[in-house]
Amino acid sequence: MTELNNSELIRLSAAQLAAKLAAREVTSVEVTQAYLDRIALVDGGADGIHAFLHVNAEEALAVAAEVDAIRAAGGAEEEALHELAGVPIAVKDLIVTIGQPTTAGSKILEGWHSPYDATVIKKLRAAKMPILGKTNLDEFAMGSSTEHSAYGPTRNPWDLDRIPGGSGGGSAAAVAAFEAPLALGTDTGGSIRQPGAVTGTVGMKPTYGAVSRYGAIAMASSLDQIGPVSRTVLDSALLQEVIGGHDPFDSTSLTDPFDTLVAAAKTGNVTGMKIGIVKELHGEGYQAGVENRFNESLELLKEAGAEIVEVSCPNFKYALGAYYLIMPSEVSSNLAKFDGVRYGLRVLPEDGPMTIERVMAATRAAGFGDEVKRRIILGTYALSAGYYDAYYGSAQKVRTLIQRDFDAAFAQADVLISPTAPTTAFKLGEKLDDPLAMYLNDVATIPANMAGIPGLSLPGGLADEDGLPVGIQLLAPAREDARLYRVGAVLESLLEEKWGGPLLAKAPELKNAGLGTAFNTAGGSN
Ligand code: GLN
Repeated sequence: MTELNNSELIRLSAAQLAAKLAAREVTSVEVTQAYLDRIALVDGGADGIHAFLHVNAEEALAVAAEVDAIRAAGGAEEEALHELAGVPIAVKDLIVTIGQPTTAGSKILEGWHSPYDATVIKKLRAAKMPILGKTNLDEFAMGSSTEHSAYGPTRNPWDLDRIPGGSGGGSAAAVAAFEAPLALGTDTGGSIRQPGAVTGTVGMKPTYGAVSRYGAIAMASSLDQIGPVSRTVLDSALLQEVIGGHDPFDSTSLTDPFDTLVAAAKTGNVTGMKIGIVKELHGEGYQAGVENRFNESLELLKEAGAEIVEVSCPNFKYALGAYYLIMPSEVSSNLAKFDGVRYGLRVLPEDGPMTIERVMAATRAAGFGDEVKRRIILGTYALSAGYYDAYYGSAQKVRTLIQRDFDAAFAQADVLISPTAPTTAFKLGEKLDDPLAMYLNDVATIPANMAGIPGLSLPGGLADEDGLPVGIQLLAPAREDARLYRVGAVLESLLEEKWGGPLLAKAPELKNAGLGTAFNTAGGSN
């Protein structure tokens, strides 16, 4: 039916695909098959992207065919179709799904199938979006590179020797490598935004409670948030409206409707808006090319009519330290359920008595990787009697101070801005033996989780020294997600003008990864 070839089809944004589906210029089966072909072409093998842990071809095509049949029949059923019906999506393998395995990137859940769907999955099914499969992640979402996945790392489509960020590197790489137009991620300390930054994609961490966490395997419950991964700001807004909304199954779920996000992305405007540079979130420790792109974005926003102010958040210097007490404390508690009795793996001790404690110990020793063990040990220690006040209690007080810093900053500015990550994508293996260096990649993203506020990362251009994508982060007060889409849409279009089209058209590995000339000639047409 379509006049577009596969390389052109997979380059369209979700909004463009939705329009072509509604206009009957293309079928959902054609689109879904084009993406499955793309996955088959670039994801597997020794130098494949390895964004997917599981590909859900049969079910995805069945859902696509169902949407096509409804469109062909027309009438009331077609009118009731969601705008994104027939647009495929990939899902981070931390989110439980009926009919597909859920591993959380861990050996301890290898082969496990959830008996229920996460709320966000139910919503994707209700919108009839074909689910392409489950994407790779650092084990239980702990990491910044996907190197802590028990199933091997994902590669960055911009440079296959580099990390795609983490923990949601699989979702970001899938979207960057045109293996999916949209994906779901989860963000506890930056796992949607930092992968977005280093892969040149858009990543949004909604306000805590704006999207149900029911069915997202918990890492640190007071920080975790599901959110969209996409190639454009508008696409993230469209997806957040699908997955958001109140859910009685999540006691922290907000009742606000969050239904002005798409409108905000479509009517981007920054005139008269105050945009605050956070003094503590740039400068020393940030790569020169990151800093340069950040300054350019500020200039663009100024030219578009925004007022740039500087704000100071003095307690942000304690954010990383407090996060590495609160997060592991919650991790140690949340992961206690993986005991060899209820889920997945069970390992019996090789010798000695067969007690329940020894089965648990053998299972957890074999089933968890080093990073997960490190955090369980840290969290158990921080929560232990006698140390609770000194560590967990103090960290909670710091958390309050960070929230107050944000309150003060938002009294001076409508939106805050910073680089998303201090560096561009580092080399695979570079920080694997140095956990503290790995943790430092999240300095700019963690404060938002500590305060529950929304954060959006969008591509800000390429760094001078390595030609790799730089992420720009926008932050707004809780519940003001629409404001981020409004500002993000303006910055995105100014940056595209400056860079001569979408940034992903410049990715060298992508040009080589089987897309050929069709990819290059389609470069500026997004
Ligand atoms: N990289 C951070 C960590 O390792 C954040 C992880 C996340 O957001 N899930 O904890």
